Amino acid sequence: MRLVFLGAPGVGKGTQADRVTAQFGPPKISTGDLLREAVRNKTPLGLEAKSCMDQGKLVPDSVVIGMVRAKLAEPMCAKGFILDGFPRTVPQAEELTKMLAEGHMKLDRVINFRVSRQDVVTRLSGRRSCPKCQAVYHVDFAAPKKPGICDRCGGELIQRSDDKPETIEARLKVYDEQTAPLIAYYQQKQMLTELDGSGGMDDVYGRLTRTLAGLGMT
Ligand code: AMP
Repeated sequence: MRLVFLGAPGVGKGTQADRVTAQFGPPKISTGDLLREAVRNKTPLGLEAKSCMDQGKLVPDSVVIGMVRAKLAEPMCAKGFILDGFPRTVPQAEELTKMLAEGHMKLDRVINFRVSRQDVVTRLSGRRSCPKCQAVYHVDFAAPKKPGICDRCGGELIQRSDDKPETIEARLKVYDEQTAPLIAYYQQKQMLTELDGSGGMDDVYGRLTRTLAGLGMT
């Protein structure tokens, strides 16, 4: 399966992509995770991206496109992938189509996760992440067994600097202006499937797997 998970920050795309990967195998490619790793490793790309990320703005298209191109060329993506957080602009979507065509591939489907704005803000502001293994928690809805400690690797959980209230607002504005137009873009290409992303993680996963089965992908 070659999928894009589309939706505002905080809709749960990354969490749901991890579960699809665990059950069905296609790797998740998260541009946000790749960029955070580059920032942690203080690579030139990370240094370039950091100030945009801290302000909730998008990193330049050329930077993320290069990153995704390199990932898609890896053998692990040959049979499929789930793109999480990419594309986020129409030029990124156009480049994606081109780079897939170069490898004689095309996207199977774009799943658009829909969640109310209020729920998105609640999910983002309570989100806690493990900088060591990228596991994600929520202080109320998916709390770790020991407060502040990652169940998976014992790392110390942090609140991402861009999950602070001022930056959340900036990210949602960027989403509305630059990413939401992709809904109409993929609808026009008859590639879009809407998914209700409200409720608990298991409910959403149930809806998602039924949707993927309905599309003949599982
Ligand atoms: P995420 O973890 O997907 O919410 O991404 C965190 C931040 O990384 C975003 O707020 C952007 O600054 C940057 N980022 C991630 N993916 C992209 C992308 N496709 N295009 C531009 N910037 C991105």
